[in-house]
Amino acid sequence: MAEKKQKVIPDEYIPEVRSRVATIDNQDYLLQNDAMFTFYERSMGELSPFFLAIKDEKRILGCRCPKCGIVRVPPMVTHCPDCDFAATELLEVEQVGKMNTTPPITYFATSMFMDKAPFGRGRVILTGADTALSVMLYTTTGILVPGLIRKGTEVKVIFRDQRVGQISDIYCVPTNELTPAQITKKGLQETELNWEAPKEPEFPKPSNEDVTVYRQSLGEMQALAVEMSRSKRARKAIEGWKRDIAVKTKGGEFAMYIDDGDFKIEEKKLKSPDFIMACEDPRTLLDGLMYKGAITDSVIMKKLWISKNLEFNTIFKLDRLARFLAREKKEQAVE
Ligand SMILES: [Zn+2]
Repeated sequence: MAEKKQKVIPDEYIPEVRSRVATIDNQDYLLQNDAMFTFYERSMGELSPFFLAIKDEKRILGCRCPKCGIVRVPPMVTHCPDCDFAATELLEVEQVGKMNTTPPITYFATSMFMDKAPFGRGRVILTGADTALSVMLYTTTGILVPGLIRKGTEVKVIFRDQRVGQISDIYCVPTNELTPAQITKKGLQETELNWEAPKEPEFPKPSNEDVTVYRQSLGEMQALAVEMSRSKRARKAIEGWKRDIAVKTKGGEFAMYIDDGDFKIEEKKLKSPDFIMACEDPRTLLDGLMYKGAITDSVIMKKLWISKNLEFNTIFKLDRLARFLAREKKEQAVE
């Protein structure tokens, strides 16, 4: 894999050369984008062996006190505070462990972590360690939702392919999603995992009523999609975004197309969609598009499932699409 060169400040965070006028007390003031640079090199100090082992050897190190035997991971002390400051020694611990807390999930991350959300953040006690290591958590089964990883869940450390020597070089997934060989293997990398076989929810056979509800909801969603594509404001929500989404409901299946401002819904089964959305009741999605409750909430509440974790971003855009259209309609109604 070609190594991607990353900048300390990603390009998208660098503002354009631009100015604007702010009017305060009837006076115009010219404001201009400018910058101040302060780059620095940070030493990992005594934690260097820990980060180097992750980066170069795909190993997790801890430190052991020869007197009390406590193993701390990461090796945050060179001398044991409980044993008259006896010098600790580095040792390797296992890459499987148990969560010692139920991790909260971050769905709406700050811009720094947006490309990583949704993710869980929790503490794992690796086999051989006595203290908990703080890690990010993911699942290969689709979107990360509450309940997938809890206190006591066994997890495995996964190493990113591109490692720079930071704690974000590693994260954990539940071992019940892995093969026995993967669980045993040390230094398991993310490209060795199967991210393409998410666990799609299964729906019971539809009743006649389910099919009627599906037909009706589909019609309403299609009408909304036409309105959204015509609305200048709504188009902004999906500007520059392109996704073909297969939507599965109990009563039937359809396709949703997002294409740089255009939004279209067709009754069609997509062979290779960018991702799959599954919601038993199509009205969940209809309500979201009508701006009656957020679609992101439906995902978090497990009423709507998506096949790819990072496509939560697209769900977020669909919510904006609904909100922007609703706002435009409201303004027009006032005029
Ligand atoms: Zn000790």
